[in-house]
Amino acid sequence: MNRAGRRLSTCRERLTHEGLPALLISNRSNLRYLTGFTGEGVAVVAEEAAVIITDGRYSLRAAQECPGLRIAVRQDSLNAELCDVIGGLGLEALGFEADELTVAALEDLREKLEGVELISTKGLVLTQRAKKDEDEIAKLRAATAISDRCYEQLKDDLAPGISERDLAYRVEGELRRLGADKVAFDVIAAFGPHAADPHAEPGDRELRPGDLVKLDFGARREGYNSDLTRTLVLGQPDARQREIYRIVAAAQEQAAAAVAPGRTGQEVDAVARDVIAAAGFGDQFTHGLGHGVGLDVHEWPRLGKTSEDVLEPGMVVTVEPGIYIEDWGGVRIEDMVLVTEQGAEVLTQAPKYVPGT
Ligand code: ZN
Ligand code: ZN
Repeated sequence: MNRAGRRLSTCRERLTHEGLPALLISNRSNLRYLTGFTGEGVAVVAEEAAVIITDGRYSLRAAQECPGLRIAVRQDSLNAELCDVIGGLGLEALGFEADELTVAALEDLREKLEGVELISTKGLVLTQRAKKDEDEIAKLRAATAISDRCYEQLKDDLAPGISERDLAYRVEGELRRLGADKVAFDVIAAFGPHAADPHAEPGDRELRPGDLVKLDFGARREGYNSDLTRTLVLGQPDARQREIYRIVAAAQEQAAAAVAPGRTGQEVDAVARDVIAAAGFGDQFTHGLGHGVGLDVHEWPRLGKTSEDVLEPGMVVTVEPGIYIEDWGGVRIEDMVLVTEQGAEVLTQAPKYVPGT
């Protein structure tokens, strides 16, 4: 059985477990994961068949990428073609991905598919995607190596006068030069007080000596993403920068070391949160600890205060605590970590800044 065949068969086992005869896949990453198809469209995964519905722009690609799967090239609307496919399969019920379908599309389907029960599902394929196979782990390593090298090359030529916007542009170019197909997400480059905004958008502020520099970016290669954050200071850090950096670095290191199979997202989150709270900055760590990474930059599982997601070998998650202080700035450090049978392996190799040296 090929890769798509194996993944479809696992998906079908999950559908059977849920009592679903078929599932409509609308999420593009789920579609790619299950069928190998990288274009736009949807798929119907039923017990006996999997059908991809796409349009003329992607018919050639679908045929190349998905040998062995049925491909329906729609002439009319997507929902009209979907009705034909579902009729042809003789389905009486169909699961749909509640996080993907718009209310309008669902209403339209209900109207067109009289007699077919439409059943809301959540996270069926997302949870399947969380455990990566060897091929996916290799691709995640390759994407991580690109962002690591990019950081290595850019960190040393940071000089006063460069703007956040210019730096973000250089990061993008460097990622592409190093082999990324595209950026994983819009580059975050924040200087000085701007670093207090966890997801600051690069602006015109120019870098000055003594500024904190927070960089968060990633590479996408062969569909798989990396996600890296580093914070440093241009020139000599002051006492407060040193103190806060060291707290975040300790929280990051201890939480990464706590990643292991069987641990929940909230248990690992608590390790970092306790370090930061003990230092008096609990209220300044304003987001969850991390997230799964794969075909999407943010995917299952979630590491956060309320997450009951259980870590398993093969999952790849970020560990990224931060402290953000208004009018001062912020520090975040983010690595990607692979859950192994024994514990964890930190995939990210980008050097960490050591303040005061
Ligand atoms: Zn990030
Ligand atoms: Zn992240």
